[in-house]
Amino acid sequence: MKYTPVIGLEIHVELKTKSKMFCGCSADYFGQKPNTHTCPVCLGLPGALPVPNQQAIDWCVMIGMALNCEIPLFSKFDRKNYFYPDLAKGYQISQYDQPFCLKGSIKLSNGKTIGITRVHMEEDTAKLMHEGKDSLVDFNRSGVPLVEIVTEPDFDNAADVKEYLQKLQQIVRYLNVANADMEKGDMRLEPNISLRKEDEKYLPKYKVEVKNINSFRFVEKTIEYEITRQTEILDSGKLPAQETRGWDEKKQITYSQRTKEEANEYRYFPEPDIPPLRWNKSSIRQLAKQMPELPDAKLKRFQKEYDLPIYDAEILTREKSMADYFEECVKVSTLQPKSIANYIINKKINIEEVLPAMLVKQIIQSTQTATVDDESLGKIIDEVISENQKAVEDFKNGKETVIMFLVGQVMKKSKQKLDANIVKTLLIKKLNSYG
Ligand SMILES: [Zn+2]
Repeated sequence: MKYTPVIGLEIHVELKTKSKMFCGCSADYFGQKPNTHTCPVCLGLPGALPVPNQQAIDWCVMIGMALNCEIPLFSKFDRKNYFYPDLAKGYQISQYDQPFCLKGSIKLSNGKTIGITRVHMEEDTAKLMHEGKDSLVDFNRSGVPLVEIVTEPDFDNAADVKEYLQKLQQIVRYLNVANADMEKGDMRLEPNISLRKEDEKYLPKYKVEVKNINSFRFVEKTIEYEITRQTEILDSGKLPAQETRGWDEKKQITYSQRTKEEANEYRYFPEPDIPPLRWNKSSIRQLAKQMPELPDAKLKRFQKEYDLPIYDAEILTREKSMADYFEECVKVSTLQPKSIANYIINKKINIEEVLPAMLVKQIIQSTQTATVDDESLGKIIDEVISENQKAVEDFKNGKETVIMFLVGQVMKKSKQKLDANIVKTLLIKKLNSYG
């Protein structure tokens, strides 16, 4: 039987605010001594009152705007109740039915549109560490602002999922609201996967959610593994269980963790200690004004404004710092943007080390090394041509690849640092003039 995968994603991104979501403790907990960034609020002590972090709320809304979401004027926090040792209060402050951002979308390079169901704000839990028979709790992470981004089940293959994740990571980094560093756990991925018969339109009766995945590559592998596993179950006439599974990196398989809770088991109710939030249109407009140019817009502009091929524009806009660097180089020089792009890309320039003005100087020097010595270079080329008649014959007979061999001979002879492209151009010119 042929099946179509139905895949949705829940992504958690930790914001890089200075302080935590509901208290003044530092949110910069990575690598810190356990339980040093805590207070009664984030330890969940009775009577401690949460005070929402406005910066975190603004950033959550900006993520929503970048994902083309609607921003409702009324929103509130809710309590999600469950018992687990990493949650001292016995509930997590999250958002249930009235999140900050709703109904967005993101476009992939193949033209497909992925629906964004919602973007909401919540607090991170503490971290459990297991040492031998003991389990230890570190509350430094407890209460760190966490944004959850939920998609519609619009994906049908792992490659599209990967592109979406890369785009999302790029967007939050452009917004400068999160590091989204997978290795540090700043960005956590939970795909849900099910299969339906190829000709069916409605959603499958079950859903398998996979947790604990810490790289984009593993998400792809997880999805492919689940597609195979679920196909076998369906082919045998059974229905895969509705459950949460984990990803085992060593064995490269998923394994059952627990059967899935329904939302009503969390007994959500409005957070009584935080008043609901009301936006007015002008404050939302203010936030919109703070938004930087986003990756897709920058990519288009680079192609148009600097007349760059998409390949170059993509590399240069992958990270905002690189895009800014390129534009600075263009600004401080009279060089063609394309030649600057070539130099940065081909030489793999470390933008931390070479200032834009320095880079421009380097480019000019690299083109001058050859032109200054045009005469002597011409001589060397003549010599190389006369010494390598076989290669010259080959070239004239259409074997264009030998040109690089001849370029190499010239470089060897000249003992100077030459720009290979210039040598190549001169060589071809000479060869053609010989008829
Ligand atoms: Zn605290």
